[in-house]
Amino acid sequence: MDNCVFCKIIAGEIPSAKLYEDEKMIVIRDIEPKAPIHLLLIYKPHHKYISELNAKEQQEFGECLNKFAKMSKDFGLENGYRIIVNQGDNAGQTVPHIHVHVLGGKYLEFGNF
Ligand code: 5GP
Ligand code: ZN
Repeated sequence: MDNCVFCKIIAGEIPSAKLYEDEKMIVIRDIEPKAPIHLLLIYKPHHKYISELNAKEQQEFGECLNKFAKMSKDFGLENGYRIIVNQGDNAGQTVPHIHVHVLGGKYLEFGNF
């Protein structure tokens, strides 16, 4: 999609170190980390919301999460992590391209909502 920052990162048009890449997803570090480890798992096809995914994409997206879970130790997340998807305005979604925040590297309080 034109003017989508994550599509540009996926295409290499905006430089960003890819910690992991396969045909379906990339993993990068968030440019404004909210925890000692703050990664973004970005599903490659351009969609704003999970609800826009077709059946094949839903399966692929689930496989991406499963694949990430299996490699989480490689990113220093052996003591656990939190995954967050900001969906829409009330969640403060700023980039309209499906991505999963992965937060960890310390004990994360749960609250302040
Ligand atoms: P959202 O608010 O849409 O859930 O999350 C978007 C995230 O993308 C934010 O945490 C923001 O810091 C991050 N981000 C925005 N632009 C860039 C960029 O160019 N590079 C990287 N690595 N992260 C970005
Ligand atoms: Zn995009």
